[in-house]
Amino acid sequence: MSVLRSRASACHAITVDVEDWYHVCGYLPAQERMRQHERVEQAVGLVLELLRTCGVRGTFFMLGSVAQQHPDLAPRIAAEGHELASHGWSHRLVTELTPEEFGVELAQTADLLERQTGYRPWGFRAPRWSLSRETTPWAFATLAAQGYRYDSSLTPLALIGDPQGHRSPHRIETPSGHLWELPPLVTPTPFGNLPTGGGWGFRFFPRSLLRWTLQGYQRHGLPGVLFLHPRELDPDGPRLHLGPLREFVAYGPRSSAADRLEPLLRRGTFRPLRELVESWQTAS
Ligand SMILES: [Zn+2]
Repeated sequence: MSVLRSRASACHAITVDVEDWYHVCGYLPAQERMRQHERVEQAVGLVLELLRTCGVRGTFFMLGSVAQQHPDLAPRIAAEGHELASHGWSHRLVTELTPEEFGVELAQTADLLERQTGYRPWGFRAPRWSLSRETTPWAFATLAAQGYRYDSSLTPLALIGDPQGHRSPHRIETPSGHLWELPPLVTPTPFGNLPTGGGWGFRFFPRSLLRWTLQGYQRHGLPGVLFLHPRELDPDGPRLHLGPLREFVAYGPRSSAADRLEPLLRRGTFRPLRELVESWQTAS
C-alpha cells in the first residue's frame, strides 16, 4: 500500500452525499409515505447555488434510487461541471449486503448514472462509512472489477471506522486491480481524531479548528476531503423524529452548514476527487 503526499494533492475536495432528508442510516422509513415529501431537488439546488457562488466544483455521491426517482438531478449537477460518483443504490449499509447484492447495487447505479450523464462513475462512498478491510474485505475487489477507480469510505474515526487508519490518500491493492482510497478529513489530537470533515462535527467544533485543520493538511500536501448532505443546507426541511441527539447528528441546529462552508470554499482550492485521482494516475 502506498501513501500519497505530493504538491499535486495540496488542494481540497468538497463532497456531497446526494440523498433525501429521510435517508438516515439505521432508520427504515415507510418509503412511500416519505416520498410524498421529497425534498432532495430543492436541497441539492441550495448546494449547487453555494458552490456556484464560490466558484467551486465538487464530487456528488448519488444514490441510485434517488437518481431514478429524480431523473433530471444527475444531469443538472453534471451540467455545472461537478463530478457524479456512486453512493450505492438503496442506502443499505454494505455490511448488510451480500457480496452479490453489493455488486448488483454498484452496477445498477453506475449503469443509470452513465445513461443520465454520459460517463460511468469513478468513485464510491458507502452509506455510513460501512466498508472496511475487516468486515467487507471482498468489497474492494468488487469495486475494482467494476471499473471504479477510487473509494472514499474509510474514515479514521473510532466507532464508525478505524481510528488507526490513514488520514492520507493511499492505494489499496485487490485481486482485480488497485483502488485509490480518499479518507474524509479529521482533526488529529492526542485523544484521537475528531470528526471535523462533515456532519455534526463540522457544525459543532469551532470554525478556527476547521481552518487550522485544513491548513495542516495543505502544509503536508494532503487533500482535506469535506463531506456534506443536502439536508444540512436545508434548515426548513422536514425531519425524522429520532430523539434530540440523533436529530442533532443527522440535521444539526436549525442554522445550516452553509455559513461555515462558504468562507472555507472561498479561501481554499477545491477540485473534484476524480481530478485528484487522475493526476496521481498520470504521475505514477
Ligand atoms: Zn448516505
